[in-house]
Amino acid sequence: MKRIGLIGGMSWESSLLYYKLINEGIRARLGGFHSADCIMHSVDFAEIEAMQQTGRWDDAATYLSQSAKGLYQAGAECIVLCTNTMHKVADAIIQAAPVPFLHIADATAEAIQNAGYTQVGLLGTRFTMDEDFYTGRLTDKYGLSVLLPDSDGRKMVNRVIFDELVHGVILDESRTAYIGQIESLAQNGAQAVILGCTEIGMLIQPEHSPIPTFDTTTLHVEAVIKFALS
Ligand code: GLU
Repeated sequence: MKRIGLIGGMSWESSLLYYKLINEGIRARLGGFHSADCIMHSVDFAEIEAMQQTGRWDDAATYLSQSAKGLYQAGAECIVLCTNTMHKVADAIIQAAPVPFLHIADATAEAIQNAGYTQVGLLGTRFTMDEDFYTGRLTDKYGLSVLLPDSDGRKMVNRVIFDELVHGVILDESRTAYIGQIESLAQNGAQAVILGCTEIGMLIQPEHSPIPTFDTTTLHVEAVIKFALS
């Protein structure tokens, strides 16, 4: 089994899911006493969040590259960045450690392609929804068309992530608001919706959604398990 290097803490609420789901997946496949061989560097999210808010993406790239380097030096055979948003600086992280970087958007897009969908909605932080680093990859590399909520919808989705989900707060009213956004995306032609933030799966489960959901956390975890056992 290969050693997995995880960059977590963004937020630790979702890193907890990564740790649990990766170990459950390894046990389900290997049985017995097996568990994942993994190392996590869980960062202080306050530092990263401040860099996001002030647009200091170069500092974030340096910080997370150092993290990747540390994981590599500790024997990690792949790097897994446990947040969609910070894939904005994926290129720098890839340069920092000479082992495969398991990109969260690739894991997600491959699952969508396998399911035969071509037009998908996307919910995530404002960075993930508004900028090109994520939607561009889905479009250019996988030929997917990506639909987003309108401006007010994007604000609400982003606010719930930063005011509630990363603090572990799950509210029924926010679930209802998210379902409303998914319904609008479906009306506009989305065949499925990407839960493009690693905490959204805590709020929205498949049974809440009128269209199929692609949860980036669980899809990323599946890719990690597959790599670790390859
Ligand atoms: N975990 C989140 C994501 O997947 C948001 C937290 C962050 O800004 O990194 O995008």
